Amino acid sequence: MNDIQSLYQQVILDHNKNPRNFGPLLSANHSADGLNPLCGDDITVHLLIENDIIKEISFEGSGCAIAKSSASIMTTVLKGKTIEQAEQLFADFHFVVTAPMDAELNEDSLGKMAVFSGVREFPARVKCASLAWHTMQSALHGKNITSTE
Ligand code: ZN
Repeated sequence: MNDIQSLYQQVILDHNKNPRNFGPLLSANHSADGLNPLCGDDITVHLLIENDIIKEISFEGSGCAIAKSSASIMTTVLKGKTIEQAEQLFADFHFVVTAPMDAELNEDSLGKMAVFSGVREFPARVKCASLAWHTMQSALHGKNITSTE
């Protein structure tokens, strides 16, 4: 494992152990549940959206370290963003976890999302990493349940 990979591992373990924005959000006006039956990840994403801006965001539920840390990092990335920016960030994240291994990733603009670039080697883990993002999108678009199957 090289230095970058072990740094990424530490970020994932930290967010798994101390998830940010974890818990219910009483003021939420958009919520959705996301299920990844292959792994058993079950995550709910709550959003408070005002004037097309994500004012507050939280998540709850349980999942593997990848699913939980991805949800935690997602909440830190999306808070304060517009819906349009959130859609773009979703596309960026999707690229991080599905791009060919030799694709060039712009790690400066991806920030913490880049820590999930390693899951490209493990196709079953891509669903864990992207569950929270798909669930966030469902919440934005008014769907209450998301399943990655
Ligand atoms: Zn998982």
